[in-house]
This record gives sequence, C-alpha cells and structure tokens, in this order.
Amino acid sequence: MSSSTSTDQRQYQFDGPKTPKRTPMACVFCRGRKLKCDGNKPLCSNCDRRGLACSYSPVSPDEKK
Ligand SMILES: [Zn+2]
Ligand SMILES: [Zn+2]
Repeated sequence: MSSSTSTDQRQYQFDGPKTPKRTPMACVFCRGRKLKCDGNKPLCSNCDRRGLACSYSPVSPDEKK
C-alpha cells in the first residue's frame, strides 16, 4: 500500500507578526538608478560621492493619473 496522502497540509508558521521589510526612503537619484540608498539626509552616500544634490520626494499613496 503506497498511497500518498494528498491532503493539503500546509503549515503556516507564524513566528511573530509579519513585518514587511520597510526599505528606507530612497532619494530621487537612487530611485532612478535603482541604487541602494542609505537614506542619509541631507545627502545620501551615493549623492554625496557624486556631488549631487540629494532630494527626497514624498511618496503619495494615491497616484494621480
Ligand atoms: Zn540615495
Ligand atoms: Zn541621494
């Protein structure tokens, strides 16, 4: 008898409240280049290195079309 039980036994392991990884606010430059922004203010490391003006634009929850 080799019957494999096909019962969907999915064990959801909840270890603590799931907190989505909140990425630090990336500046405009880093976001545009998809760089890892450390979110340093007023200058992030990337902008600081390039001597750029680091600017952070607030993210609007509702994107107007
Ligand atoms: Zn940045
Ligand atoms: Zn920057």
